[in-house]
Parts: sequence; C-alpha cells; structure tokens
Amino acid sequence: MPISLPELPFAPDALAPVISARTLEFHHGKHHRAYVDNANKLIAGTDLDAAAPEDIIQKTAGDTAKTGIFNNVAQAWNHSFYWQGIKPGGGGPPVGSVADRIKAAWGDYAAFVDALKTAGTNQFGSGWVWLVADGDALKIVKTANADTPVAQGLKPLLTIDVWEHAYYLDWQNRRADYLVAFIDKLINWDFVNRRLGA
Ligand code: MN
Repeated sequence: MPISLPELPFAPDALAPVISARTLEFHHGKHHRAYVDNANKLIAGTDLDAAAPEDIIQKTAGDTAKTGIFNNVAQAWNHSFYWQGIKPGGGGPPVGSVADRIKAAWGDYAAFVDALKTAGTNQFGSGWVWLVADGDALKIVKTANADTPVAQGLKPLLTIDVWEHAYYLDWQNRRADYLVAFIDKLINWDFVNRRLGA
C-alpha cells in the first residue's frame, strides 16, 4: 500500500473563511480519500505495487492502457502536495529564497500574483495551477484534470487546486475570489522555501 492519505497539517476549522471545515470534510475526507483508495486498488498485484507515487506517475503518464492508474495516483499525489502548501495565517509577500526568485522571474510580487491568478482563472474546467522550478527558473504552469508537473520532470513548489470541489461550497462560481484569498491568506511560503532548498 504505497499510497497513503496524510492527515491534514492544520485543524479543519483553521482555514476559514477561505476554506471551510465543510469543504475540507469533503475535499480531504471524501475526494482525496477516494483517489487514494482507488489508486491502491488499481496498483495492487501489479509491478507498480511497491513503487513511489512519483515513479508511478512518470511510468504511466501518456500510457492509454494505464489512464486509471495515472489519474488516481496523480490526484493522490497532487492533493497531498496541495495540503502542504497551505497554512493558517499564511500568504502575502514571501521572504527568503523564493522572494528573490520571484523578483528575478516576474519583477515584483504583484506581477507574480497577477500571473498566478490569471493562470488559475484561465484553466478551463478542472485542474491545477502550479509554481514550479524548471532548472534555475521559476515558472507558473497549469494542468488539466489529474495532470501534474511531476509527469513532465518539473519540480513543483506550490499548487492551487482549481477543481470546483476545492472552492464551490465557500465561493460558488467565484474562482478568482478563491484564488485571491488563497494567495493572500493561505500560501505556506516556508514550505516553498524548503522545497527550493531541497
Ligand atoms: Mn481537489
């Protein structure tokens, strides 16, 4: 059983009003759990049974015979990663290494926020928006459905889930407002700096 459901690294009511306990009850307790359970069922008894999630993602990406495995393992990984990039009282301009790298890539924090928000609102339908390291450069990328930069060999630093299940109970159709609130109040920049140093 290489795929596990991590505990949330914050109390269920700690992210309100940006993300309510009710959203987390469904998002972590139902959606994320289902991806983990389905992933484990699909890899049981196969040669992927003991592989790390990142390896399974890279081995099954683009293999139309293994779409189910890819989708569920990638969604399990994406969600575990999403929770780590969130902390109560987070968000706003970062300090440390990531602040310098953002300045180098976008000029200033405001331009970076604009780019992140635009990527999140322009992702048509379900997906994810990511801050990634591509070699020395930081980039913002978006992926559809379960797709993940892990499949492309990029190093994810942060992600925002833009599937409707991530925000609809709290924001309904206002994805842009969810993105702004997430960026202003929830981003765990300490985690991003640790990823950069790792
Ligand atoms: Mn989700």
